[in-house]
Amino acid sequence: MKKLEGLKPEKVFWYFEEISAIPRGSGNEEAVSRYCVEFAKERGLEVFQDENRNVIITKAASAGYENAPGVILQGHLDMVCEKDEDCLKDFSREGIDVRIDGDFVCAEGTTLGGDDGVAVAMMLAILDDDELLHPRLECVFTTEEETGLYGAEALDASRLKGRRMINIDSEEEGIFTVSCAGGAECDLSLPVVWEETEGSCYTVWVDGFKGGHSGSDIHKEPGNTNILMGRLLCMLDETVDFRLGETSGGLMDNAVPRSTKAVLYVAQEEEEKLEEKLREMDAVYKKEYSVNEPEAEVRFEKHGAGKGRVLSRKSAAKLLFLLHHVPNGVVRNSPAIAGLVQTSLNLGILRTGEEEAVLVFSIRSSVETEKEELAARLRHITEFLGGIFTRKGDYPGWEYRQESPLRETMISVYKKMYGREPQVRAIHAGLECGFFSGKLEGLDCVSVGPELLGAHTPRERLSISSTQRVYEFILEVLKELRQA
Ligand SMILES: [Zn+2]
Repeated sequence: MKKLEGLKPEKVFWYFEEISAIPRGSGNEEAVSRYCVEFAKERGLEVFQDENRNVIITKAASAGYENAPGVILQGHLDMVCEKDEDCLKDFSREGIDVRIDGDFVCAEGTTLGGDDGVAVAMMLAILDDDELLHPRLECVFTTEEETGLYGAEALDASRLKGRRMINIDSEEEGIFTVSCAGGAECDLSLPVVWEETEGSCYTVWVDGFKGGHSGSDIHKEPGNTNILMGRLLCMLDETVDFRLGETSGGLMDNAVPRSTKAVLYVAQEEEEKLEEKLREMDAVYKKEYSVNEPEAEVRFEKHGAGKGRVLSRKSAAKLLFLLHHVPNGVVRNSPAIAGLVQTSLNLGILRTGEEEAVLVFSIRSSVETEKEELAARLRHITEFLGGIFTRKGDYPGWEYRQESPLRETMISVYKKMYGREPQVRAIHAGLECGFFSGKLEGLDCVSVGPELLGAHTPRERLSISSTQRVYEFILEVLKELRQA
């Protein structure tokens, strides 16, 4: 007896339960990928699998749709594996224990994998149904989305004939995503020289900030403690004669740092001035951030007199100049979509090492040329100061299309079915659609999905009624796509 038996749409939940039984954390897609290949072979459908375990299943147009241009449906096979502390699940060999809770399907103590198992189940259900009306279909199942969009990046898209694509990896019903940001990591490295010093030693923290995701939270303009430490040190430098020791803040390029610390040395007669200035900066940051960062503070600890290691005056001056002049946060808002950040960057990591001081940024833009300009600025200032600039992990953006017949069709179908306008949205983070629109010239793409709560956590829940509505909606759109 299947746990989800009786839920509608039947085929969708049947396949959802099938794939839930297959372990499919990112990087472990072998079995679920094979399942899709077998599925296609059993039904005589054309199937392609690449070495990254991406799968493409093609189904011919239904009667009367032979002349309609093809449609691509897309979702990812992998899921985030998170569990409660007391849960003993071994994700590498065990499937998910699904259960029903009111209008929701959820899992026992783990993530559900509704992200993006619901897309996989919908695509399999569509491919398995010969009664439906649709143009030629290419269903694309990708891998390692959650760890870096690697499957989509590696996929040879030249096999795909369609130029209209519905991605099923959005989590809010009634919201159509039509654009996302591209990005990269930029590492700025300044060579440094260390020397011995003697004096009163302090540790100073810029602390208590909330942080957040450097893409989806950047519009809230969270305080970046690395940048604020840079500013604090520059302010100090105007009145206090101090030497700068080890400085560090942040752990990931794509998270806004919440705390940054620096070690300082001053001569005894400078102590009072230093402490006074630090208290002043504490008041300044508390005032500037009183609305969105109520816990913000500058604090310090005095360790007493002694010897220690500090940056040479020249190394410290260059680092302070860099920290004070690099751009950070929102660079430009979208002129086309209200409330969308178009271009931004985040100084996620700051650290002083043996031979270099390193600043690690995540840069993002939904406009390729603005992303390039941002990288160029970071490179210019780094090289001007004698440092080395490196860029890696580039992923492409998905630019908003003024003209999108697919979007228009989907909006009109949605209005007809539900009597209201869907919301059209762009996001300031990466999506697989970025890779597809980069690879397929002229791709017209929209991302949708049913209501999914608590993604990436053991609280993940998929709405049953929303799954039914979104599935019916997609079927209706396919039916409408008879024309170009
Ligand atoms: Zn997803």
